[in-house]
Amino acid sequence: VQRAPIVIAGGGVAGLSAALGLARAGRPSLVLERAQAFGEVGAGLQLAPNATRILRDYGALELLRELAVAPEHVRIRRGRDGTDLARLPLRDAEQRWGAPWFNVHRADLLSALLEPAEQNSLIEIRTDATLTGFVQDEQGVAVSYRDSHGETHRASGAALIGADGLRSLVRARLHEASSDRPAYTGHTAWRAVIPAKDLPQAFRAPASNLWLGKKAHLVHYPLRAGAVVNIVALVEDDWRGAGAEAREESARFWDQAGDRGFLLDRFGDWAAEARELLAAPESWLRWPLFDRPPLDSYARGRTALIGDAAHPMLPYLAQGAAQAIEDSGALALAFLEFGQKDPGRALARYSDARRPRAGRMQQASREQGRIYHMGGAPAFARDMALRLAPAGALLARQNWIYSA
Ligand SMILES: Cc1cc2nc3c(=O)[nH]c(=O)nc-3n(C[C@H](O)[C@H](O)[C@H](O)COP(=O)(O)OP(=O)(O)OC[C@H]3O[C@@H](n4cnc5c(N)ncnc54)[C@H](O)[C@@H]3O)c2cc1C
Repeated sequence: VQRAPIVIAGGGVAGLSAALGLARAGRPSLVLERAQAFGEVGAGLQLAPNATRILRDYGALELLRELAVAPEHVRIRRGRDGTDLARLPLRDAEQRWGAPWFNVHRADLLSALLEPAEQNSLIEIRTDATLTGFVQDEQGVAVSYRDSHGETHRASGAALIGADGLRSLVRARLHEASSDRPAYTGHTAWRAVIPAKDLPQAFRAPASNLWLGKKAHLVHYPLRAGAVVNIVALVEDDWRGAGAEAREESARFWDQAGDRGFLLDRFGDWAAEARELLAAPESWLRWPLFDRPPLDSYARGRTALIGDAAHPMLPYLAQGAAQAIEDSGALALAFLEFGQKDPGRALARYSDARRPRAGRMQQASREQGRIYHMGGAPAFARDMALRLAPAGALLARQNWIYSA
């Protein structure tokens, strides 16, 4: 007898990874994705070994290999004058942490997840399917979803996984508390992906680059076998005391084109090389960063949350997608252990397994932002520590993240 599927709301990194994980545990799933098609959405992602290790199990890592860039090191520099602060070797990431470090385009990661998912008879994917509601009881869940013609459809399953991102409808229905809303963090990411040929050779080297400045930092790395360069400029919006008005405006301009002039002004006192990079893109996407309070549980009855729906985090440890992928691994294990008899218990087990680590990652990401954005004496002390510490010691501090 074919078992009832697990319904997964959202076909992003979390949703597709969950479908692949559940299939490995022998569970069928039905993925409902709002978008009409899987397209070129998003920008670059650094995928650390704690994520690539799981992608390998899903048959997605090999598909990514050709399109990824494996950085040889992370180069950390001082924004003001470009002084080198540290260089962390990543060439032996695979020996050190058991899986490679890949920098990829989000669209390439999605394709690499989609291909094995589409070939797997346990996974059904419906696009143009926006989850609009659900009810659950001890037997399972019934969901309703709408297509772009306004027609409503229904489906049922053994459980519902909310993989529907930061503004998760599933989370809103499970946790109605008014305090549980996405809150603007006061930080904005400006993102651009540009052809590498438009940049001097130095920017195309296979490396992850991080520049630190007061209330701002800059990240850039090549992607797609070196054909394009991903640039992210992160700024705190209270710089120059711009206050509530600017914050509200940023919140309204979610995911909208940004004004290059602002950015050049904002980084006006940075090293010439950094400014040269920031002047290169014709246009930027402005991406205000939101946060949500930690949850007591990711599961309730036959419903659970994964990825950004469960634990959105500031991108300063580059772990949001990686944690979504880890969720999928834990979900699969929980279903292997308890799912046969009791899907609700499997979801509770998944939540218990993941909450401490994902919560710690949320907190550590925030703390990393504070360290990156220091100014004055604390920045001086940080830079000194970075320059004096052996690279091996700096890398070892990340073991708790990458070795998991
Ligand atoms: C500037 C920046 C840089 C980042 N860099 C990194 C990095 O280097 N490394 C890293 O690991 N992470 C990084 N991240 C984090 C990463 O992008 C996210 O954590 C990750 O994409 C979350 O995936 P998700 O599937 O949970 O959510 P999403 O990617 O938001 O996917 C949610 C999906 O659900 C669909 N959906 C929403 N509502 C519904 C509905 N009602 N019905 C059906 N479908 C629905 C959406 O269309 C979407 O496809 C970064 C994030 C930012 C902002």
